[in-house]
Amino acid sequence: MSFCNKRITFENFLSGIPSRDYIFQKAPYEDQIYQAAKMIQEAEYVLVGIGAGMSVAACAIYGGDWFKENFADFCAKYGNGSYMQDMYSAGFYPYPSEEAYWGYWSKQCMKAGIEANHTMLYKTLLSMLGSKEIFCLSTNVDGQLEKAGLTADKIFCTQGDYFHIQCAKGCHQNRYDARELFRQMDAARVDCLIPSTMVPKCPVCGGRMNMNLRIDQYFVQDAEWYIAEKHFEDFLSEAISSGRKICLLELGVGFNTPTIIRFPFEKLTRENKQISLLRVNLNEAVVPEHLGARAIGINVDIKQSIEDICRAMK
Ligand SMILES: [Zn+2]
Repeated sequence: MSFCNKRITFENFLSGIPSRDYIFQKAPYEDQIYQAAKMIQEAEYVLVGIGAGMSVAACAIYGGDWFKENFADFCAKYGNGSYMQDMYSAGFYPYPSEEAYWGYWSKQCMKAGIEANHTMLYKTLLSMLGSKEIFCLSTNVDGQLEKAGLTADKIFCTQGDYFHIQCAKGCHQNRYDARELFRQMDAARVDCLIPSTMVPKCPVCGGRMNMNLRIDQYFVQDAEWYIAEKHFEDFLSEAISSGRKICLLELGVGFNTPTIIRFPFEKLTRENKQISLLRVNLNEAVVPEHLGARAIGINVDIKQSIEDICRAMK
């Protein structure tokens, strides 16, 4: 809709969203758990949206003493600033060479991807949803959903992962499995650097390679990415056209990339009466008040909440 020659009202400025909105719900925790269990039980379809908070709840702690211990050599070499605090911040360090860049990233990919096994909470989640038609949309890059046993046709990870690399300039739309390469780099690393002979080069343009993570405009979406996108579209289209109840189960999605799961989940719920929103998020479980009983915001640790919802469903 164009705003040309049209008076802008406060309502259309707000895109039709009531200004009286985000609230922390005041219902007691036990009541919320009961209502959440009912919401899932009544739904035929569950679309699970997963963000960084789910990894934290699943015990993937990537900062503090754990980081200082596991990345001690990197802290000693690059530690005079704000970067060497946790794996997320350390990824942004301006590494002075490709040997240094891959020296760091091969370690992060080993620890947070290839060797990581934080699947218990995911398994609990999947067994809780055992009888439902489900699909998982995730901004996480740690591959834990697949490790927990969910098949690839039910997963859409939009932001890449710790297992693939791509041309840094995205000169072609392929990504490359780097698991074996990272293992070799991990074994060969000396003083935080990998040997120059191991630095990967783009097989098409000969330029630098990069992680296949959505960190800039060159992020590569390969054929697999588009297949996963189609599976997501098929799932949601079928669920909505069925007219049956749909639960949007949002776990640990904060305000880093709220445009991928959080805001669209609210929009879907606002626009479809068959949809309800269950938002579980430690500290950020505010929900739109105008959704009434169709939204539940549980402001408690995700692991605790999921286990309690499981119990309430029995
Ligand atoms: Zn290239």
